[in-house]
Amino acid sequence: MNATANQDINDIHWILGLLQNFEAGLIVIDRDNTICLWNDFMENHSGIAASKATNQKLFSLFPELPEHWLTKKMQGVLLLNNTAYISWEQKPYLFQFKSHRPITGSAPYMYQNVTLIPLSSPTGQVDHIGMLIYDVTDNAVAQQALQAANKRLQSLSRVDGLTGLYNRAYWQECLKKEFARFGRLQAASSLIILDIDHFKRVNDTYGHQAGDIVIQTIANILQQQARKTDFVGRYGGEEYGAILVGTHGANAMIFAERLRSAVEASVIDYGDHQLSVTISIGLSEIRLDQSTETQWLEEADQALYKSKQNGRNQVTLFQRDQ
Ligand code: GH3
Ligand code: MG
Ligand code: MG
Repeated sequence: MNATANQDINDIHWILGLLQNFEAGLIVIDRDNTICLWNDFMENHSGIAASKATNQKLFSLFPELPEHWLTKKMQGVLLLNNTAYISWEQKPYLFQFKSHRPITGSAPYMYQNVTLIPLSSPTGQVDHIGMLIYDVTDNAVAQQALQAANKRLQSLSRVDGLTGLYNRAYWQECLKKEFARFGRLQAASSLIILDIDHFKRVNDTYGHQAGDIVIQTIANILQQQARKTDFVGRYGGEEYGAILVGTHGANAMIFAERLRSAVEASVIDYGDHQLSVTISIGLSEIRLDQSTETQWLEEADQALYKSKQNGRNQVTLFQRDQ
């Protein structure tokens, strides 16, 4: 055995010694997926001793691993000599280990962040990959609990946090009620859907915070223009809906056109910048032949699509023969 090979073996032994008590999984595999190193963490969680794991093929030992996907990832690491990361958000876990932290019972398996590191030999050749497997169950469970709580809170609330308009869920409820009211009373009503034109450019050029201010400003203009009895909501990211109660199509067109030009004329201060945007609007009047409120909404959406198609910054009224 030459000196370089000896050094390689020494290196591996030193690393093994240092990392046996490491609070993360450490595996070294070669180009043929043969396991060269398997630390205590891996022993403890897989139940497979290092003496059993070494010299075995990774995918024979763990047939549940996503072989095709992981092989591609590892080939990239070897080819480009680049470290790769796999986060639990992308894949909750690579190795199906039991969670040893049954805090909530919501994590049957250990969530893992995995790092794949190209390992070069003293000659500079990359023939091995180091896999670091971190147990991130606590973080993942906490983050998921927070997300679930936020979602519950949001659905309890009627108001969108950014704009103060009705949120989507409540606004859709209003739409449903207005549609049912029409069924009983046949009172006029119109629905508009609007979407900011080329909004991605605002985010891309000035940042997300500027984008948020634009979303808030358009919401304010819409709220100011609408009547107190109208239902104004944030339908999505930079999309809004307004139910113009008691308003016929012709008057709704006048309203929408006024709104469109108010937005076009407004200037939004953001630091040293002055931003302007335009909006596209789709409008649909309520009718007896609409089967559900969803159809009413889809018609307004189709009209909005027409406004976008025809060059944006305009209002389109849905027509049945469209
Ligand atoms: P179009 O004229 O076709 O509507 O072009 P657009 O660029 O506006 O395209 P689209 O409506 O698909 O873009 C929506 C963008 O809005 C994508 C998303 O990044 C951004 N967005 C969604 N929600 C928010 C938010 O709450 N804040 C910010 N700043 N941006 C958001
Ligand atoms: Mg848009
Ligand atoms: Mg949009």
